[in-house]
Amino acid sequence: MDLLVVGSGFFGLTVAERAAAAGRKVIVIDRRPHIGGNAYSEAEPETGIEVHRYGAHLFHTSNPTVWEYVNRFTTFTSYVHRVYTHHKDVVYPMPVNLGTINQFFQAAYSPSEARALIKEQAGEFDVKTAQNFEEKGIALVGRPLFEAFFRDYTAKQWQTDPHKLSGDIVSRLPVRYTYDNRYFNDTWEGLPTEGYTAWLERMADHPNIDVKLGVDYFDESQPLNRRATVGQLPIVYTGPVDRYFDYAEGALSWRTLDFEQEVLNTSDFQGTSVMNYPDLDAPFTRIHEFKHFHPERKEIFAQDKTVIMREFSRFANRDDEPYYPVNTSADRDGLLAYRELAKGEQDVHFGGRLGTYQYLDMHMAIGSALSMWRNDLAVQDD
Ligand code: FAD
Ligand code: UDP
Repeated sequence: MDLLVVGSGFFGLTVAERAAAAGRKVIVIDRRPHIGGNAYSEAEPETGIEVHRYGAHLFHTSNPTVWEYVNRFTTFTSYVHRVYTHHKDVVYPMPVNLGTINQFFQAAYSPSEARALIKEQAGEFDVKTAQNFEEKGIALVGRPLFEAFFRDYTAKQWQTDPHKLSGDIVSRLPVRYTYDNRYFNDTWEGLPTEGYTAWLERMADHPNIDVKLGVDYFDESQPLNRRATVGQLPIVYTGPVDRYFDYAEGALSWRTLDFEQEVLNTSDFQGTSVMNYPDLDAPFTRIHEFKHFHPERKEIFAQDKTVIMREFSRFANRDDEPYYPVNTSADRDGLLAYRELAKGEQDVHFGGRLGTYQYLDMHMAIGSALSMWRNDLAVQDD
């Protein structure tokens, strides 16, 4: 064995695939009973509808290297993500665009009129100098739209004072003064034609890769544990960085999600794949209706049943799945301390969303794994 990869998410599988292709023998372990980390999906048994087990995953990228790489394992459908939001019994397009603005203000503003209005409603806040989520949000869309669509949604999603949240969270969403309501700005987007799991399995399908599921790296009753492996061979670790160091610098804060899934006897519940619920009277943040991700699967799409999933957000305890790094200033201090500790670990490479405590989209996880392979691991071949 030449390399141990802890975690079979996109980061771990990308490193494993590259290493295997270069002739290394790789073992990938994962504590879950399936590969793929949070991108894993499976067919709901009654309907055959593909359900993204850990929340809806939309692939998008503007990185040509990543796009070329992922196309080795899957083709992509022409799905373009569009989201709607259900505020006070009216449905609006999201992210904020000219359609949202005109519907909200019952107006017919031109792009420049809408721009002037939002600037006035942003008041004292400016995108360049905004210090936190609230200031940045108001600077971007003005106070009335911020309060309608962002303030309470974010209260449900993060349960954190918006002054303590980074403005980067809200800048994930574009604001457009056109009627373009695409959720993402990237050059390429789509869903894997045969589903995420087929894609992930193809990445792992190499004679040099041995995947062992249901294996926890910190379980010393199994041989591939931290104590037995560190210093013996190169290790790529994609689990939570604080867990690796037994929380020596304190626990970093994470949000987790609870999903409530239902099969309904109706052909179409909400007419779209994702409906956000920005008001406090709905305890969930959004509802996913999975058949709308694949309208091209005609028979599955047309049936008189549908699968929906309500998404609830809360703080993660140690036993919960960590989904979103909260990234308060205390967390950032903790992360710096863990980075120092990580430097002292012999030939252990921390990567991925959990290993670096960064909110990484799939294309970012894959891109950074390709870089880690190239810069830190492949060179040992020379
Ligand atoms: P993960 O997928 O989390 O994989 C880490 C793996 O490590 C897991 O399988 C875990 O079981 C394993 N592991 C952890 N600890 C141990 C241990 N002790 N022993 C063994 N194994 C261990 N990205 C997009 O591009 N588009 C989206 O629409 C999108 N939506 C998302 C929605 C949600 C709710 C979430 C949480 C994320 C979303 N993402 C999305 C991000 C996407 O999930 C990540 O980019 C991707 O999963 C990162 O892969 P990773 O390998 O870093 O981590
Ligand atoms: N957000 C919001 N209202 C919405 C959608 C998003 O307030 O209708 C905020 C929220 O704080 C969220 C952030 O914008 O965490 C980023 O949104 P995104 O859709 O990228 O979140 P994700 O899909 O990662 O949960």
